[in-house]
Amino acid sequence: MKIDFREAKSIITKSNIPSIDYVINPYTGCQHGCIYCYAEFMIRFTGHKGDKWGQFLDIKSFDLNKIKPQKYNGKIILLSSVTDPYLPLEKKYQNTRKILEKLVGTEAEISILTKSKLVVRDIDLFKKFKNVNVGISISTLDENFARIIERAASKPLDRLDAIKQISEAGIETYTFISPFFPEITDFKAIIEESREYSNRFMFENLNFRPHNVPRIIKVIKEYYPELVSKYKEIQKDQGYWDILESEIENYCEKKNLNYDIEFHHGGFSKS
Ligand code: SF4
Repeated sequence: MKIDFREAKSIITKSNIPSIDYVINPYTGCQHGCIYCYAEFMIRFTGHKGDKWGQFLDIKSFDLNKIKPQKYNGKIILLSSVTDPYLPLEKKYQNTRKILEKLVGTEAEISILTKSKLVVRDIDLFKKFKNVNVGISISTLDENFARIIERAASKPLDRLDAIKQISEAGIETYTFISPFFPEITDFKAIIEESREYSNRFMFENLNFRPHNVPRIIKVIKEYYPELVSKYKEIQKDQGYWDILESEIENYCEKKNLNYDIEFHHGGFSKS
């Protein structure tokens, strides 16, 4: 892992994600190195040409005193959009914690999304916010497959245990079932495992991009060879996602769950 230190002009930046006003990315790069990651385009914009996603990390430095909690009242702030706020190196550098400490007192909605059990470290801080919610993203309960697709993220059951602890501390939680791997992601099993301590569920499908298609197909070939033709079929026919969306909807309605499906019907995008 190539580690570097870089000064950031601002750490809370306007978001172009619909429904999110601001994003905080305490690091550039992501140690988790997920094979499907959509944030890999960051390589181009951050002077990392030639580096491999998942193998570099810039520890951002910034003037913490510039963070004015009241400026964000009524807004929605997401941590994070192009990294994970609780990477293994967060333990050492604590950028996420330092930013959250400075934000205490805001009336913004703070939304945390992670694949790491380290998030429980900050329960004490979450309790200080008026409006905070903490989610974990998860594709599978299969520890071995998770290790292959999300190399350095916490084990699936550890992630679920993290939101259990956070929920028990009285903090709102959500489970983001993402990305949905066709015929592999058992969404019902994940829901049943977490519904007692997850206030809501979100779903997102696997969005193949030119940079991640070869990696994904390689992994499918190796671990689920019987699914290769299915995956290639889905690239041509988006109907699979429509059927799955109805199935998820029916299940969530039947179970009376609070849910939101965020499927990209462009599916296997060429962009
Ligand atoms: S945790 Fe998120 S940002 Fe990091 S590699 Fe995985 S998908 Fe990309």
